[in-house]
Amino acid sequence: MDDSFEAQVIAAFGRHALVRGSDGELRDARPAGRKLEYVCGDRVTCRVDAAHDEIHMVTVLPRSTALLRSTVRGGGELVVSNLTLLLAVVAPAPAPDLFIVDRYLAAAASGGMQAAIVINKVDLPGSDELSAALEPYRRAGYQVYECSAQRPDSLAPLAERLRSATSALVGQSGVGKSSLATQLVPGSDIAVGGLARDDEGRHTTTASRLYDLPGGGALIDSPGVRDFAPAISALDPASLGFLEVERLAPGCRFQDCRHMREPGCAVIKAMESGELDARRYESYRRLRRLFEDLTVARGPGRRP
Ligand code: GDP
Ligand code: ZN
Repeated sequence: MDDSFEAQVIAAFGRHALVRGSDGELRDARPAGRKLEYVCGDRVTCRVDAAHDEIHMVTVLPRSTALLRSTVRGGGELVVSNLTLLLAVVAPAPAPDLFIVDRYLAAAASGGMQAAIVINKVDLPGSDELSAALEPYRRAGYQVYECSAQRPDSLAPLAERLRSATSALVGQSGVGKSSLATQLVPGSDIAVGGLARDDEGRHTTTASRLYDLPGGGALIDSPGVRDFAPAISALDPASLGFLEVERLAPGCRFQDCRHMREPGCAVIKAMESGELDARRYESYRRLRRLFEDLTVARGPGRRP
């Protein structure tokens, strides 16, 4: 092999990563410098350090998309990169929190990837009610897949969509992300995290990990991110990534309308007439308030 090669980060850990080059082989690699920021999904250039039998990641190639979450101080932290599709998973149990779903969808829209919703555990009672509660998302244009990890037949429509995507399953812990991934990636060892080891050499399941899908495409199994909030800096300031708001906003009187209490606001009007789901609008307002609090916290004169 050459001294230098391109690879994809299959799993990222604190001080090392599992990378895969064009030969398909998995190798352990270390960042060449302390400043190199890498996440699962990144494409990197690597250099072979033959003397020390090590591989160093030298640069991260430009990312086509980035999923960023907010840090407490309002900054952005990369979660995964180069996704084309984000799948927000919900289930009748644990009780769904649609505000978390909204935040993932907002992050997806603002980060340049598509998004869809997966209802898992449709074998459980309560799934019809959940499906009905997701009607506003269907109206907004999101595809909703109804699945049960325990009924492999039910996964066919989702599997078909995933063939042409690099996707990730996200959502509350316990909704069945790992169970779905195990079904979608036959023969994988998702539960133990494969070759993944932390810096002390222990097996770990806490890192995101990318898997190839049998029919094409790739799937990233990412650990639950509690209270996910999108990075403020990554949100589209006009719509915050709410597709309905994005569509309605051109009808507002003011071009820089925040859709909170401005006169002539098409978003508020649509909410009042029932065209825009009231809960989705409330979710927008919560994110707007968070957005503004964090923008203020980041200091005057700084653009979000
Ligand atoms: P994760 O935290 O989102 O990765 O969720 P897991 O995949 O670990 O699943 C959490 C629990 O839900 C486990 O006990 C699974 O066996 C169960 N589970 C996952 N999918 C289904 C499903 O489709 N139906 C039912 N009834 N249980 C499921
Ligand atoms: Zn408006």
